[in-house]
Amino acid sequence: MTGTCVYDVIIAGAGPAGMTAAVYTARANMSTLLVENSQPGGQMTKTEAIENYPGYRHILGPDLSREMLEHSVKFGTEVLNGNVEEIKDDFPYKTVLVDGYPYQAKSVIIGTGAKHRSLNIPGEKELSGFGVSYCAVCDGAFFEDLEVVVVGGGDAAVEEAVFLTRFASKVTVIHRRDELRAQRILQNRAFAHEKIEFIWNHTVEEILGDGMVSGVRIKHTITGEESDYPCVGVFIYIGMDPLTSCVNRLGITNENGYVLVDENMKTSIDGIFSAGDVNEKMLRQIVTATGDGSIAAMSAQHYVDYLEEKLQTEQEVKEHDNASY
Ligand code: NAP
Repeated sequence: MTGTCVYDVIIAGAGPAGMTAAVYTARANMSTLLVENSQPGGQMTKTEAIENYPGYRHILGPDLSREMLEHSVKFGTEVLNGNVEEIKDDFPYKTVLVDGYPYQAKSVIIGTGAKHRSLNIPGEKELSGFGVSYCAVCDGAFFEDLEVVVVGGGDAAVEEAVFLTRFASKVTVIHRRDELRAQRILQNRAFAHEKIEFIWNHTVEEILGDGMVSGVRIKHTITGEESDYPCVGVFIYIGMDPLTSCVNRLGITNENGYVLVDENMKTSIDGIFSAGDVNEKMLRQIVTATGDGSIAAMSAQHYVDYLEEKLQTEQEVKEHDNASY
């Protein structure tokens, strides 16, 4: 389906939330357009192995991405490669600008995700998935009895450092200042833990290793002195950025840029739903994204039924009024 048609739903972003939503909407016979500007799969495509998605004891991220995409396409989802630039609320329909071209839909599901901030240092990209990780819940279990470092001093860094002690023999938090940003309760938990150590006033300048991480090069922020610190895992927790530039003008995000939804994945705008990591939420995982996606799909289905009924009634009233003259 292309050109001037109005889709029942356009889904922005083919991560696990968007692809699950597509499985549900397409299977419910809703005309579905799924738009993605890079590889379908989102952050999954950058995950070496996934061991916490039920039904798969071990699956490679790119393989699960392909499975989900094929699943949604099987039920008739149309996939478009392009960048969603803007989503507009043009009642009765929504307009989705993809690479400058307007597509129309009765409903929209936002599933654009969030991006972990990178240190942008040598070795980070090359060793991502080979000791460098941005997700302790996903990858922590690979570091049983091994020494890892966590970079950052916020809630996520400290919380995940504590989580990593379940597996690692030693967790060293490297922070650029001499005090943590994290909540006091999390700080106390980390300070009290026998497996956790801190390196203060240091930045990580390079991740070392040939094929696998073997250490980090760190630099004292005051003296400038550099040294190498051995480890086999580097967990980077220096914040996340939601990918919401396409909805900036809609006023549906909070002060950190995350989309605000109710329990049915409804935003404050009728017919616009949102699912997955782009939402303000507690746990950002594949399994929570797929759950959100299914709920958003069901909400979109109810909305489209309601809209069609409303438009039909308005049309009948108009025809009736015209006939009365
Ligand atoms: P965050 O609060 O922004 O903290 C980022 C940390 O990374 C800060 O300590 C910061 O250092 C450091 N950092 C930033 N850029 C860096 C760089 N280039 N090099 C080295 N260090 C760098 O991010 P977050 O911890 O991901 O948390 C995000 C939001 O989620 C926060 O609102 C947080 O409260 C919330 N959250 C809550 C919980 C919870 O309540 N249990 C758990 C996780 C996250 P400085 O301190 O020096 O700026």
